[in-house]
Amino acid sequence: MGRGAPPGLTVPRTTRWSRALGALAVAAALLTACSSPTPPAPRPTPAATVPAADPAAQSVVDTLVQAGRTGDRAAFDAATSTVDPTFADRARLLYGNLVGLPWAVLDVRLRADREPVRGRLRELLGPDAWQQPATVRWRLVGETATAEHTVWLTFDLDGDRPQLAGTTPPEDPDDPDGAVRPQPVWWTGPVSAASRDGVTVLAGPGQSADAWLDRAVAAAAVVRERVRAGDAARWGGGLVVEVPASRTAFEAELGADPGSYTGIAAVTLGEGSGAGSALRVVVNPDVTRVLAPLGVAVVLTHETVHVATRSPDSPAPTWLVEGLADEVALAANPAAADGVAEPLLARVRADGAPEALPGDEAFLAGADDLAVSYAAAWTACRYVAETWSEEDLQRLYTAVDGGQRLDAALQATLGTDEARFTAGWRAALARQARS
Ligand SMILES: [Zn+2]
Repeated sequence: MGRGAPPGLTVPRTTRWSRALGALAVAAALLTACSSPTPPAPRPTPAATVPAADPAAQSVVDTLVQAGRTGDRAAFDAATSTVDPTFADRARLLYGNLVGLPWAVLDVRLRADREPVRGRLRELLGPDAWQQPATVRWRLVGETATAEHTVWLTFDLDGDRPQLAGTTPPEDPDDPDGAVRPQPVWWTGPVSAASRDGVTVLAGPGQSADAWLDRAVAAAAVVRERVRAGDAARWGGGLVVEVPASRTAFEAELGADPGSYTGIAAVTLGEGSGAGSALRVVVNPDVTRVLAPLGVAVVLTHETVHVATRSPDSPAPTWLVEGLADEVALAANPAAADGVAEPLLARVRADGAPEALPGDEAFLAGADDLAVSYAAAWTACRYVAETWSEEDLQRLYTAVDGGQRLDAALQATLGTDEARFTAGWRAALARQARS
């Protein structure tokens, strides 16, 4: 998410599950990290100006979307095929989600690359059936940016009339990344929605949308009150939090390999192409099992800082982005701060303070010592807040976010330079390590 990062880079917050949840410090179980995973494969910008690839099939898609949004079950059923018995549940799921979500925008546009179905589907649906990718653009009430996904639709013919017959990607896609492409949460499973104060939660089965809404509204209120830095000055308070049913569904939504996000508590995900895409917080549902409520509050507040500041689009160095998010979350939940710096302080006691602030690469998923990197980020921002003020920390972020180089921004906002700043932070670490 730092300088030079690909657009749409995701911003996960990770936890180290293996650390015990001590009675003293919830934070001890939190690896206060938000490492950057492998970004999703770049998606081609859909050719919005190209005429519908297939007017008859596009008309079916439009009918289905309209029927879902207006709750017209008969019209929806009339446009879906019943030939594949395994599609009945999917169709029901899709209809339920279309009816239940607070849409501001929902547009499904077929793309041109139509291809015949293969294997089991061909036997079932016949040689005239085909599959086709579609671009889904969607935005929920309260959001200001539109998400964009690619999905695959299968059609068969009832006479000469196309019907929707499936929603799974081709069994042998030309695009090898197709199987792990990020999917909308409402595409992969049933979701329930709850909204209040510009905050919307989409929750999978077994997750309480109302309980998550309370947590998300509280996090948004903290960020509205405390954060003015960068784009947050223009943030209207809109927040979408998605809580898939399971870790597997969480990984599917991210387009991540199964098992690769076991340790990730939540992700701030850019859903769309490049800067300006919709940013949603996607939560690993295991988080409430592993973390106490205070830890969950820290996770959601941290991610909401990323949403409010649109940090995936920011040129600020990652230590400042992550340090600000943790400083806000931990200042609002001070009981969670105990132990957060300990992985770094143990290192300082053993080897002395680090020579320099961590580079962006120290925050990549899979990097060694993520806990140390995140502790370094937080303590550097804590150093600004304690030596200058919280307000000055936000002014520093705003300057760097606006394109100033770090050294110039430090001089303009704090009256110091990078060398003196780093020396001061190292001295503060040495003092903390001795105390
Ligand atoms: Zn983060």
